[in-house]
This record gives sequence, C-alpha cells and structure tokens, in this order.
Amino acid sequence: MTAASHTRQITGSIDAITGCMFSGKTEELIRRLRRAQYAKQKLIVFKHANDSGRYDPVRIASHCGGRFMANPVHTVAQMRELITDDIEVVGIDEAQFFDDELVGFVRWLRQTGRRVILVILNQTFAGDPFPGPGPALLAVADSITVLTAICTVCGQTASFSQRLTRDTEVVLVGEKENYDARCILHWIPEGTPAE
Ligand SMILES: [Zn+2]
Repeated sequence: MTAASHTRQITGSIDAITGCMFSGKTEELIRRLRRAQYAKQKLIVFKHANDSGRYDPVRIASHCGGRFMANPVHTVAQMRELITDDIEVVGIDEAQFFDDELVGFVRWLRQTGRRVILVILNQTFAGDPFPGPGPALLAVADSITVLTAICTVCGQTASFSQRLTRDTEVVLVGEKENYDARCILHWIPEGTPAE
C-alpha cells in the first residue's frame, strides 16, 4: 500500500451557499472559513476582481461587517495557478461572475480531495436564473444551502432581489444603493425607482 502524499483529514466536496442579495451568503462563507481555520486546514479564498468595489479590494466582506482575506482574480486560470498541493479548502465568493470554466475547475478540486465552498447569487432582479456558471455549479454541488433575507416592506422572509431602478442591465454596480430584499408579495420584477 502506498502512503498518501499528505494527511488530509477531509474528502472532496462542493458546498454551495445561495440565495438572494442581503441573505447573508458571504457571512455564511466567512463562518465556514473560520471553522476550517480553527481546524488548522490550509485554505485559500477567491473573489472576482470586478467585485472589488465593495468595501475592500483584497478581502471578502459581508453586509454585516465580516471580513476575510481573499485573492481578487479575473479568471479561473488565475485561481488554478494559486492552488498548491497543501490546499484543503477553497472558498469562492460571488462565483456567478466567473465563466463556465469554473464548473470543471471546482469538480477537479473535489476530485483531488479539496472541500470547495461557493457563494452563488441564484437569480437576477427579474427572477431568472443568474447567467453564467451558477446553475451548473448548483447542479454538481454535494450540498446546497439556500439562505433568505428579510423583506424591507413587511418583514417577512424574502427570496428576491428588488432592483430600485428601472435599469435592465443584469449586473449593476453599487448594489447597496440599487437593491433591497423583498418577499414574493412585494417584489416587483421589472424594478421600481427608489422612494
Ligand atoms: Zn414583503
């Protein structure tokens, strides 16, 4: 019997954290990363470089103020270059912003014994599946955690991202000013000007 090349304590998996905006997805990613850190697992975190406008260019940040160091990258190839043999846990924030190559990459990470934790925005403001690798990532995931937010109108459980403009671009920067969370009753798919 050949000895394992390392003493990895975990088996490979792909765990997805999804839901609408303001549902605490990044906060949940940070919570899981901290647990991996306490367990002394070797980890690496990626965020899309285009997302750098939100609070901090080299860390991922949740709306509630959590922070974690992350590598801003534009492409999957840039992530691949940073994966060393000793990496056990890979966190990827805002995975929907990468291209479809991400699906094969995270499957390879799982195949090689890594635990992958993905944050995926599941729907556009219009309620459509968010374009890009998100739907395929959810299809290959071992576990999916769907988080909800609180409706800013009535306080009930919210699953939709309300756009507060009538702009029809799928991706709008400046999310805090342009969106809030809504329940099915108060969500207006075509967008609504802020009051
Ligand atoms: Zn509501």
